Amino acid sequence: MKMHYNLQEVEEGKLMYFDKMKHVPSPLIGEHVCKVSNNNLDISPRQRARSTSMKKPKNKTFENFEMEEIRPRTSSLPTKNNYRRPLIKNLRTNYEDQDHDLYRLRTFDVTSKGIVNRGDSIKSRSTNSIVSSEGDGNVLSIESSSCSQNSLANSDGSIHKIKPYRIVILGAIGVGKSTIAQQFLTSEYLFDTSVDSEQEKMVSVLLDAEESTMEFVDLESDSADQVDGGYDCYVVVYSIDDRKTFDRAVDILYHLRKEKHKKSAMILVGNKSDLVRTRHIQAEEAKPVAVQYDCKFIETSTVLNINIDELLVGVLKQIRLKHKKDEKERTHGTEIGCIMKSKSLLTKLFGKDTFSKSCENLYVL
Ligand code: GDP
Ligand code: MG
Repeated sequence: MKMHYNLQEVEEGKLMYFDKMKHVPSPLIGEHVCKVSNNNLDISPRQRARSTSMKKPKNKTFENFEMEEIRPRTSSLPTKNNYRRPLIKNLRTNYEDQDHDLYRLRTFDVTSKGIVNRGDSIKSRSTNSIVSSEGDGNVLSIESSSCSQNSLANSDGSIHKIKPYRIVILGAIGVGKSTIAQQFLTSEYLFDTSVDSEQEKMVSVLLDAEESTMEFVDLESDSADQVDGGYDCYVVVYSIDDRKTFDRAVDILYHLRKEKHKKSAMILVGNKSDLVRTRHIQAEEAKPVAVQYDCKFIETSTVLNINIDELLVGVLKQIRLKHKKDEKERTHGTEIGCIMKSKSLLTKLFGKDTFSKSCENLYVL
């Protein structure tokens, strides 16, 4: 098709023209046949096959962003992205310490292969949303929380807090009670940092889609006599390289079980399992003691970060299972009582271990 243009400028071989209709300057592209007739310049584009060219990407400014290109927001945390998020310890310094609205939430899954640590998040109590999260990947996200055991939302949206589970850590001085309690608070490795025994040791854990807050009481004295019955779980620690600390742990278990806290969750912990050369207490010696006092048993090492997460999750599991059992006994008191009686009779007949589940499995009663 022939097009008519007014010639405006011919300069150094560069031909500029105004489109007659729109009066918008545009460069001439391609080869053209030019003819001058009656003071008008006729320019006809030479017919040629269309060449393949790269499509120019759209300039994505906010105004021309098409709606369908916006990915709908999903509620799941991405497994991996390259967003450089602030370090969780900086977040803790900036927010957690100063603003009590924010707290750390540790997330775990119990799988057939054991405990999987899903990372820590900084969460807001008021909005019940995750501000930032770190785990296996780099994650930054804000999302609403799953249901919480320790805080229930009222109908007006306000949060009604249920008091945290209280756990006391007992054992001889120097066995690693404060170090363990401090390591419970975070997924960051802390062994080389100084232990602050004055620090409040509260940690929130998301496990089995339920959030719980635990408060660890780290007594400076090794006396279990002053320990009252108001704890949800008793963690009794000894050091595997020191027989005196083991004897002390057995004394504490005896005292707790026989005298005051007949039904409470209890865990016997052999710490410093990294000290293999100076080991004095074999696990085989400690397990029967755990069975005898109806408690669970685990060996840990804070130096090598072995079984610390397993102990934390085990404490929570034991508390939940005990509470559930107590609840059942309250509602179906007599039925459960009969079952328990027949169970103890069978145990007497067929031996102690017939019905007692492994003391090393912290995730069952
Ligand atoms: P607590 O008196 O029971 O509170 O004991 P601490 O937590 O203060 O720890 C006493 C000492 O044991 C410290 O020097 C710790 O660094 C050390 N410790 C704690 N846990 C371990 C562990 O798993 N292995 C080794 N080798 N040393 C540990
Ligand atoms: Mg201490």
